[in-house]
Amino acid sequence: MIESLQALQREAHDELSNSRTNDELEAWRLRFLARSGQLTRLLRGVGVAAPEDRPLIGRVANEVKAALESAYEARQRDFEQDAERANGDFDVTLPGRLPRRGAIHPTIRVVRDILTVFQSIGFRVAEGPEVEWERYNFELLNIPRDHPARDMHDTYWIDTPTNPGSMLLRTHTSPNQVRIMERTAPPVRVVVPGRVYRYEAIDATHETMFFQIEGLAVDRGITMADLKGTLTAFARAMFGSERRILFYCSYFPFVEPGVEVAIDCFACGGAGCRICKQSGWIEIMGAGMVHPNVLRAVGYDPDVVSGFAFGMGPERVAMLKYGIQDIRLFYGNDLRFLRQFA
Ligand SMILES: [Zn+2]
Repeated sequence: MIESLQALQREAHDELSNSRTNDELEAWRLRFLARSGQLTRLLRGVGVAAPEDRPLIGRVANEVKAALESAYEARQRDFEQDAERANGDFDVTLPGRLPRRGAIHPTIRVVRDILTVFQSIGFRVAEGPEVEWERYNFELLNIPRDHPARDMHDTYWIDTPTNPGSMLLRTHTSPNQVRIMERTAPPVRVVVPGRVYRYEAIDATHETMFFQIEGLAVDRGITMADLKGTLTAFARAMFGSERRILFYCSYFPFVEPGVEVAIDCFACGGAGCRICKQSGWIEIMGAGMVHPNVLRAVGYDPDVVSGFAFGMGPERVAMLKYGIQDIRLFYGNDLRFLRQFA
């Protein structure tokens, strides 16, 4: 049986290489591969082979069939190319087809723009782990276990056998403030980009994964004025040289005082429009002076040094800059959306 299969394969290959016309090729296909062809007929004989031989025969038969099919397709391609050349359709002077170039993802593009601005005024870039200890994500940032602020962070907890409930996917990039201060003596000037995770319902303005950029500066004599100056320089570099910024009171446990930061609307100049929801101002980030408890927790003396911190969402910045209405577009992997940033 196996010998007959191999003989059939040899015969088929010989005949295939002798075929010269499409008609001959089709006759070959009918003879060897079609439902009524020789291979099928031969395989009907498998039923009469000894049961223990059948698996091997089956395997060889499948190999022969696959080999004949790919030989047939290759021969068919040869014929097509010959035909193109014969018709003069084949123009060797035509330029090749260019591969499509990829584009930088809009989030990453904005992250890079933001980091470039801060690097130009003396900040260095650092990164940290996305899987984080509860301590770093909450406790060392002045958010103890029973603190109501934990409700603001819908958290993905990670249970491990040895540490049930003490690891999580970081809910903000702020744990890096602690990590960096722990291993660095002041002065510190750093920006930290990265992904963060929130366990929440997804809609046009909420995703379970998004980016944040955290900023931190600690030194002797740092004040709110330094924060305002730094963020004004940032707003002007990102949104136009005329921008003004507005602080208003807000609350984050790891800063005191805490502020929400808005810029005057770059679309209407403050007169009121759809983008700024008629208010003339657009919120772009949260910020504040680093809480003395946070400084103390990393071994800094809050009577000697002070600092400011800020955090923003690059997707939000991209949505404002590019007029994107729905945050779900960023990670939906729809190429029609992503190609617009090529
Ligand atoms: Zn406006």
